[in-house]
Amino acid sequence: VERRPAYQRILLKLSGEALAGDADMGIDPKVLSRMALEIGQLVGIGVEVGIVLGGGNLFRGAALQAAGLDRVAGDHMGMLATVMNGLAMRDALERNNIKTRVMSAIPMSGVVDHYDRRAATRALQSGDVCIFVAGTGNPFFTTDTAACLRGIEINANVVIKATKVDGVYNADPMKDPTAVKYDYLTFDEVLEKKLGVMDLTAICLCRDQNMPLRVFDMNKQGALLNLIFGHTEGTLIGKQ
Ligand code: UDP
Repeated sequence: VERRPAYQRILLKLSGEALAGDADMGIDPKVLSRMALEIGQLVGIGVEVGIVLGGGNLFRGAALQAAGLDRVAGDHMGMLATVMNGLAMRDALERNNIKTRVMSAIPMSGVVDHYDRRAATRALQSGDVCIFVAGTGNPFFTTDTAACLRGIEINANVVIKATKVDGVYNADPMKDPTAVKYDYLTFDEVLEKKLGVMDLTAICLCRDQNMPLRVFDMNKQGALLNLIFGHTEGTLIGKQ
């Protein structure tokens, strides 16, 4: 049987937490290496991969604000944190001979490229993994929103959010053993049930632009490849 990917171009959102491994803080090179291998598998079968990285493993604007900092300064620090994660991810991918472009919403000449949608599209077409950092470039947004925005801009077939649980549940599965997983949800259901999949800005953007969203567990080995081949994995969120 011929195995063909269900998606040609994806936008993968990796939270800062996902890069931190068990420590929940900082960057775990072992976790990065494993992710690089899984991403390399996708590139190997011809899938075009864009990645948006979070920064919560280093700094979060809201947390810094709670500690007394100015919110905008905190958000700038948060966005710079995503650039550091991007440099670490680029390093991990390139050590595995996967060609990579890092593009930042905030220009940072000499360190990474400035985000340019057409250049990103061309890079993806030539098989480079594009890592989009510095979020949207604006305070008061999240990297989830940046992931949806970039996914829509680059015409990805799907935005895939890697989390620590294998999908969206009706309650927190870490706390409630009776929590039930959804295989499929509409954007309106996510909003009505107030399911904390992503922030409202991100969900509304995907709903308005009809960009499907999939949430899955990146710690489950092979799950990413599995869902690329169209197998049920995590939770799919779509229009109806
Ligand atoms: N951030 C921002 N604008 C953006 C994206 C991110 O100001 O468009 C800041 C914000 O302070 C956020 C931090 O960067 O807390 C890290 O991003 P996020 O919390 O989304 O990372 P994740 O939770 O995915 O690790």
